[in-house]
Amino acid sequence: MRQTANYHTHTHRCHHAYGCEWEYVERAIAGGLKTLGFSDHTPWPKNDAWPKVRMKMEQLPEYIETIEALRRIYGDRIQLLIGLEVEYLPDQFEALMEQLREDGRVQYLILGQHFHCEEGYPASGKPFKEKERLARWVDNMIEGFHTGKFLYVAHPDVANFKGNPFFYKKQMKRLCRAAKECGLPLEINGQGYRAGFYYPQNRFWKIAGKEGCKVVIGMDAHKPSGICDWKEMDHLMRIAKRYGLEILDELEIKELFA
Ligand SMILES: [Zn+2]
Ligand SMILES: [Zn+2]
Repeated sequence: MRQTANYHTHTHRCHHAYGCEWEYVERAIAGGLKTLGFSDHTPWPKNDAWPKVRMKMEQLPEYIETIEALRRIYGDRIQLLIGLEVEYLPDQFEALMEQLREDGRVQYLILGQHFHCEEGYPASGKPFKEKERLARWVDNMIEGFHTGKFLYVAHPDVANFKGNPFFYKKQMKRLCRAAKECGLPLEINGQGYRAGFYYPQNRFWKIAGKEGCKVVIGMDAHKPSGICDWKEMDHLMRIAKRYGLEILDELEIKELFA
């Protein structure tokens, strides 16, 4: 069975995605999706956290309005959702939420913890061995889970930890347990596979399987061709099956500010 929903889609505003939004939408319709969620990298109120990979706060209304305009054109064929991929940055998270609450049009957030607050990128990218860094990253994620603001956890296996494997296992177990407790599905990420990155990491999914986590298959499209590449999606589904992970498709979108 093929999935009918994808909640992880970028736009050119993050400076590392390409194409027009309508091209993503048309590929999604052609591929039989019923729901396509845009979740570009969030802007931050201070415009200071890794500004090269995200839109500026001033661009947020235009991002939202572009998706709203597409809804008027394609709305009878596909459900288009307005989301953001957000790190959990404790010092700015509340301020961001305040802005989103005021605007009222962003419908969901996915947690993509590319780095933790004090130190650049421990995760996506360079390998690292420091135990403390991995533990802090997990702490940060778990704090994010407990805000109750996230729909799911994007690429939870993004930490490129090359240190002690027993420590890795212990920390990932902690992460998986907390996600399960908070009712958060974990995403097996398409972009990681597509780009030949070090994730999806089997060692992580084996732990997630043992902990009984639920998963979502996320395309994480940075180009229209990243939408509905079924060969790729089949590969991600095989990972889920290998480790006995239950795959979710359409998710319930609750009010972000109930
Ligand atoms: Zn990401
Ligand atoms: Zn992404």
